[in-house]
Amino acid sequence: MRKAFICPSKYVQGENELLNLGYFVSTYGKKALLIAHKDDIARVKNQLDKTSKEYGVVFIESNFGGECSRVEVARLREVSAEYNCDCIIGLGGGKAIDTSKCVAQGGPLIIVPTIAATDAPTSHSAVLYTEEGAFDDYAYFKQNPHVVLIDTTIIAKAPTRFLVSGMGDALSTYFEARATSNSYSNVNAGLPCGFRENLCGPAKATKAALELAKLCYKTLLEDGLHAKYACDNNQVTPALENIIEANILLSGLGFESGGLAGAHAIHDGMTILEGTHKYYHGEKVAFGTIVQLVLENAPKEELEEVLRFCFSVGLPICLSDVGIDSYTEEELRQVAKKACIPEESIHSMPFPITEEQVLAAILTADSIGKAFKKKME
Ligand SMILES: [Zn+2]
Repeated sequence: MRKAFICPSKYVQGENELLNLGYFVSTYGKKALLIAHKDDIARVKNQLDKTSKEYGVVFIESNFGGECSRVEVARLREVSAEYNCDCIIGLGGGKAIDTSKCVAQGGPLIIVPTIAATDAPTSHSAVLYTEEGAFDDYAYFKQNPHVVLIDTTIIAKAPTRFLVSGMGDALSTYFEARATSNSYSNVNAGLPCGFRENLCGPAKATKAALELAKLCYKTLLEDGLHAKYACDNNQVTPALENIIEANILLSGLGFESGGLAGAHAIHDGMTILEGTHKYYHGEKVAFGTIVQLVLENAPKEELEEVLRFCFSVGLPICLSDVGIDSYTEEELRQVAKKACIPEESIHSMPFPITEEQVLAAILTADSIGKAFKKKME
C-alpha cells in the first residue's frame, strides 16, 4: 500500500520568537517579501524593526490587498522579482498565509501566524478566491513551508475567539483521520503539486499521522479550557503553549497526512446559509464534528465527551450556535447536498453516504446539542 506523510521543514514556537525572524531570513539571503495586512504589520512593527537590524535583513512591504486572488498573487510575484527577494514571508491570518504560499510556489517560505485560528500554516495547500471573495480553486505546492514560526506572546494577545475557533478546527482532526484510515481513503499528502487528481498514484495515511491526530484530541481535552483562560488574560502558560501546538502543528499534520472526512464537508455545506457567514471556520467545523459523530453513530460516551468539551470552551453544539436560527428543511437539504458533492471529503467516511443520511444527522445533532445545553443549565 502506498502511504505518504508531509510536513514543514522546521516548526518553532516560543515567547518573543518573532525576534528570530531575521535569522531565518538570513539563511536564504538579505531580502524577504513581507505579505501581511497593514494592521498585522502595525501589531508587530517593533519586533520586525529589531530583528531586521540585528540580522541585517530587509523586509519588503507589499501593501497586501487582503484577498488571496490570482490577480493579487500575480502582482506580488512581480514585486518579489522586482526587488530580487530571497524568500517570502506570510504573516497574519489565513489569507496572508495562503497568498504567501501561492507567491512562493513551494520556494523558500516562512509562515508567521499571528493567531491560532486554523491549521492552515503548516500545509502545502492554499485556497484561491476571486477578487470579489468567492471560492475559486484549491492550489497545491511542491513543498510545505520551510519554516513555521510562532510567537506565543503575540498569539496570547490576540482575541480569545480565534484560539477557541482553532480548537474547533483541531477538534475534527482525529475523527476525520480515523474515518479516513478506516475507509483506506487517500490523503492530501499524496497529491502532486498543481493538480487535484493524483497523477502519480494515490497515497493512504501513515500510522504517524493518525497518532498525531489522536494526540491533538487528547491535548484539547487536557488543556483546552485552561488555555482559553490564559488567552483571556493575554498570558502564555504551558496549557496555552500546548493548545497552540495542537491547533497549528498537530492539527495541521493530522489533517494533511491523516485526511479529512465528514466534519469539513458539513462545514462546506453550511457555508451556503447566509447566517453562518459571521462565524469562523473552526466554529462551524466543531458543529460539523458533532454531525459526523451522529452520522457514524459514534459511542455515546465519545459524543458526550465532545459535547462537554465544546460547551466548556464555548464552541457551537447546535445550529443556532452557528447562526442558523430558523431554517426550512429544504435549506438544510441544500446544505446536505453541498456536503455530498462527489469531490467532497465526506466520501472518505467508511460507508456509502447519501444526502438523506446527512440531513438526518444534522437535524439529530442539533437536537442532541440543544438537549445537552438544557441539561447543563
Ligand atoms: Zn479546517
